[in-house]
Amino acid sequence: MASNLQIAILGFSLESNRNAPVSDRLAFEQTLYADAAEIKKELAGDRTGLPGTVRGFCQHMDQQGPWTPVPVLLAEAPPGGPAEQAFFDEMLNTMRTGLETHIKTHGLLDGVYISEHGAGLSTAEDDADGAVFEMVRNAVGPDVPIIATLDLHGHVTPRMTSAADVMVAYLTNPHVDQVERGIEAATIMLEMSRGLRPVSTLIKVPMISPAVCLLTAGGPYADLINYGQTRVGGQILNVSILAGFAPADATTNGMSVVVTARDDAEAAAELATELAERAWADRHRYKTNLISIETATTNATQVLNNPQLPALLLADVADNPGGGGRGNTTYLLSALHRQGLSGIVFGMFFDPTLAEKAYAQGVGAIFQALFNSKDNSRFSEPFAGEVLVEKLADEPCIGRRGIYKGRRVDLGRCALLDLDGIKILVVSRRHQCADPIFLERMGIDLANTRVLVIKSRGHFRAGFDEHFKAGQIVEVDAPGLTTPNIAKLNLQNVPRPVYPLDTDMQWAAS
Ligand SMILES: [Zn+2]
Repeated sequence: MASNLQIAILGFSLESNRNAPVSDRLAFEQTLYADAAEIKKELAGDRTGLPGTVRGFCQHMDQQGPWTPVPVLLAEAPPGGPAEQAFFDEMLNTMRTGLETHIKTHGLLDGVYISEHGAGLSTAEDDADGAVFEMVRNAVGPDVPIIATLDLHGHVTPRMTSAADVMVAYLTNPHVDQVERGIEAATIMLEMSRGLRPVSTLIKVPMISPAVCLLTAGGPYADLINYGQTRVGGQILNVSILAGFAPADATTNGMSVVVTARDDAEAAAELATELAERAWADRHRYKTNLISIETATTNATQVLNNPQLPALLLADVADNPGGGGRGNTTYLLSALHRQGLSGIVFGMFFDPTLAEKAYAQGVGAIFQALFNSKDNSRFSEPFAGEVLVEKLADEPCIGRRGIYKGRRVDLGRCALLDLDGIKILVVSRRHQCADPIFLERMGIDLANTRVLVIKSRGHFRAGFDEHFKAGQIVEVDAPGLTTPNIAKLNLQNVPRPVYPLDTDMQWAAS
């Protein structure tokens, strides 16, 4: 074991939705913008403020012997529009200075671990993640191992593969393997400290898939990932297949197949080709199964009227804050309310102005609520109704299940409002409703909730599966920034031809 390795830790995580409002400094500061001192503090504490990937990486390094983490900067915003350019440039500069200052004072690093998303855009740059990776390589020199973890919704580019040695993407969606992938990155880092110099191949498959078709419990993407994993071992160090993120609408879009071999470049290329061809041959299977708002309303009515029917979860997948949605569209809410339905829980609605108003009114107050009084972005239509303030909360909470498990999440000021029997959780920080704790701490009894509306594309599944199994979940085709309906995304920048926009196109991996 090499002794006392000095490993830099940094990362930029933004899943960019081209049409969502720009992600500015505040979006990062309200989520994660931790400098060296803050990361150090987290590492010395309970670590709940760090992404699962970083927790996993550091935990494994801790267990394997002496090492010195060299924290640089961790930046993460909720999925949203491209990062504002001046902020992004400043962030890159802070990272570069951190790396260079360390090298000047302590000599060369033994490695760099990057916790990245992979679908980041800045307002002037489609390959923001490539810019981060390239900056790191330039700062640390050609021989220092660089290993990155990536979200499976990311886009890998040649600029990224030429800068980093190994890419480790999530294998699960919902992403419940973040800690595990961090551990894997650390394992590879340790092997590299003993001399391993892996080689990888990237193949871009011209496929853009609806986000709801990329779950890994079953379906074409699960089959592809699982098959890839059967080939890991021996010469093959890692297989990462990133489906990408359609709403990014970027020149980097498409599925990325990355195979890393220990030293046999040909083995990596051969397997990458095989996997890419397998993905392409299966492209027709990535089909959505959405229901209309009218059908959703009918289904909800039936469930509320008939206690024999199982409880129902309506997923408002087109307004997923976890994909850049504002978490505030009112299409489904107004349809359910118009129908006079009572006994529904609505999780959650992003509207800081309304949460503030509820706070000013206090618990027990009844007032005329105006939803979306301030947000003028597309799809943020106003809605009004008389509500009762049931409960207020403003403390951050620790995730209980699924993607937020063990992670501190701050929803800002929260208010549970009762709108004629529809209980709506209004929050001040934009997050997807992926953890039951958000509702439970407001007094919601999920075991006895008959109809639950959730603004999330799929991560809620790993949080709410105690009470809502796959068969009780329907995905609703409402308007929104994260619609899984590829045709409605009106993609302008993706490389063409691409499936399914160019349905009859031909393609081969080699
Ligand atoms: Zn993702």
